[in-house]
Amino acid sequence: MTVYNFAAGPAVLPKEVLQQAAAEMLDWHGSGMSVMEMSHRGKEFISIYEEAERDLRELLAVPANYKILFMQGGAIAENAIIPMNLVGRKPQPATVDFINTGSWSIKSIKEAKKYCHVNVAATAELNKFTTIPPRVEWKLSRDPAYVHICNNETIDGIEFDFTPDIAADTNDAPLVGDMSSNILSRAIDASKYGVIYAGAQKNIGPAGLTLVIVREDLIGHALPFCPSAFDWKLVADADSMYNTPPTYSIYIAGLVFQWLKRQGGVAAIEQANIAKAKLLYDYLDSSEFYINRIVKPFRSRMNVPFFLRDESLNETFLAGAKERKLLQLKGHKSVGGMRASIYNAMPIEGVQALVDYLKEFENKHG
Ligand SMILES: *Cc1c(COP(=O)(O)O)cnc(C)c1O
Repeated sequence: MTVYNFAAGPAVLPKEVLQQAAAEMLDWHGSGMSVMEMSHRGKEFISIYEEAERDLRELLAVPANYKILFMQGGAIAENAIIPMNLVGRKPQPATVDFINTGSWSIKSIKEAKKYCHVNVAATAELNKFTTIPPRVEWKLSRDPAYVHICNNETIDGIEFDFTPDIAADTNDAPLVGDMSSNILSRAIDASKYGVIYAGAQKNIGPAGLTLVIVREDLIGHALPFCPSAFDWKLVADADSMYNTPPTYSIYIAGLVFQWLKRQGGVAAIEQANIAKAKLLYDYLDSSEFYINRIVKPFRSRMNVPFFLRDESLNETFLAGAKERKLLQLKGHKSVGGMRASIYNAMPIEGVQALVDYLKEFENKHG
């Protein structure tokens, strides 16, 4: 029976990519070495790195005046690295604006407070994080160092369906987007962002790699106490090799980018993601047995939290799912219930298998 892994991250990767990595494990392209054993400065690895960078730039249509940095520390480290690199452009103490849409926004806010004054310009807290506050309600500062959004709240299951325009209200502040759990899942206009960042382990590849896409004029303003390895200028000037980068994670990410191109790129994968999400949400909506409380336009295409109306059946539900090889469906501990993460690499067959099980379980227990 095929295993379908609905984990939120680390998460499912394309089978083809894992097969290729397995085939190349001991001998990459006749080099006689595993990628893991290669010098990051050797011509073999440099070719892997350059191709990954080129493919990502093409997939997301990243403009030429943006650097793509391959960093470490995850999105959580970026919560500190971003203010350390951006607030120095303003008189201290600088103000940063946040839109609070859920668990990951809250973490970003808490960390930023160590480095700057934080203005929460809008929050969905009163709505229990079931919606994205409309742009007209945001109370932005007049001259913030940047405005931070979390494009997809992995735990709460809500996603921006728009890119906010903030320039006019903020003296042209850069928009910073945490795309850890939806990068490469939908078309974006990268030029509307100053910084895009994402941990790799949701929609890209193995943990250990963090992508930072940053407009060049925002580089070179790190606070004096910013660790050198996290100073975007030092990282950019060294082509992400200021320190040893996570070479194997970059290699796998590169294979995922090639796989995405073979699928037809981001536009094609977005259509597939729309179809997968529709299949699952339509079933949840048609049923009295299951609930998803997120306001429709903001339902995440990547992370679908849902509840059984009768929560005493939760353990039985999860045990039955496991028997059918539908894995990792238990919801985040802060939310409870269930969560199905259906990233790029989850085939529609996996979502169909989940919907079949939801029906079967409802028929038996409903
Ligand atoms: C997973 C996740 C993070 C944390 O990423 P780490 O790699 O664990 O630091 C931050 N933001 C979002 C939206 C996430 O999904």
